[in-house]
Amino acid sequence: MRLTKFTDLALRCVMRLAVCSEDDVPTTGDVAAAMEVRHTHAAKAITRLRHLGVVETRRGRGGGLALTELGRHASLGWLVRELEGEGEVVTCDDPPCPLRGACRLRRALGGAQEAFYAALDPLTVADLVTSPTGPVLLSLTGPPNR
Ligand code: SF4
Repeated sequence: MRLTKFTDLALRCVMRLAVCSEDDVPTTGDVAAAMEVRHTHAAKAITRLRHLGVVETRRGRGGGLALTELGRHASLGWLVRELEGEGEVVTCDDPPCPLRGACRLRRALGGAQEAFYAALDPLTVADLVTSPTGPVLLSLTGPPNR
């Protein structure tokens, strides 16, 4: 099982926002710089996270991004499932595999995929930013030349 780069990037953005205090509302550019990813990639991930209700935008002077209560306490398994989408770990239809109608391997891989998500179900984003990860996230300001 391998996560898409999009999912990993979105999770990085979520973790960065999870360590922000009430008066620390970074912009997409701030988050992209801190996590050392392209602005356009971070913007796409944050748009998806907003649609999921995990991240909100605070408007006005000093506005920016913040994690919602849902984002802080939602199951990590749920979040990764949503970001990864419905796809299976193996592609059986492109090109069509002659076994695809009756394949035990496909069924076994489907079970393994579900076990992977189930292992993430008990965790929340808040769990991911306890020490030692949280203090490191707080220290990130981006590369020195930005
Ligand atoms: S062997 Fe099974 S799992 Fe592999 S491509 Fe064919 S149907 Fe899918």
